[in-house]
Amino acid sequence: MSTKNATTGLRRCIGSAKFGIEAHEAPPADFPVQPSQKDGLGRMCKPHWNAYTNALRKAALARKAEEPEPDPTEPTTKPAKAPKPLPAPAPEKVAKVRAAKAKLAATETLGGSAYTDAIGSDEVQAALEVIAGADAGVVVVDDDEVSAVA
Ligand SMILES: [Zn+2]
Repeated sequence: MSTKNATTGLRRCIGSAKFGIEAHEAPPADFPVQPSQKDGLGRMCKPHWNAYTNALRKAALARKAEEPEPDPTEPTTKPAKAPKPLPAPAPEKVAKVRAAKAKLAATETLGGSAYTDAIGSDEVQAALEVIAGADAGVVVVDDDEVSAVA
């Protein structure tokens, strides 16, 4: 049995171990024309050359995807919020307390039964409640005002 170096008419496709392309023999017609090569043909057959260049392109894209890129949309850590200052009392409530104090002051200028009657009136009692509420840090408002404020 002869093992002489017979010319088979086939050309070696070198394949690419890196991309899992096995080397093999193929007819020269299967090779792309590549003038830079000594014999003017590529070193891989056309399907394998295409597979090789595709694999190269994918590898390049994968490499690019792995590169850490600064993300402009990355949320910056927000500084901790400063505790909110207590809300200032609503102007209408302040006015109500002022009016109540004025009412009480006016009542205290009265004398005798007029003072007693005034103190016992709903109006002054309401004013006293308002003042007491304001002093306790709670502005007392009647139902009408609550619904108006709310
Ligand atoms: Zn091939």
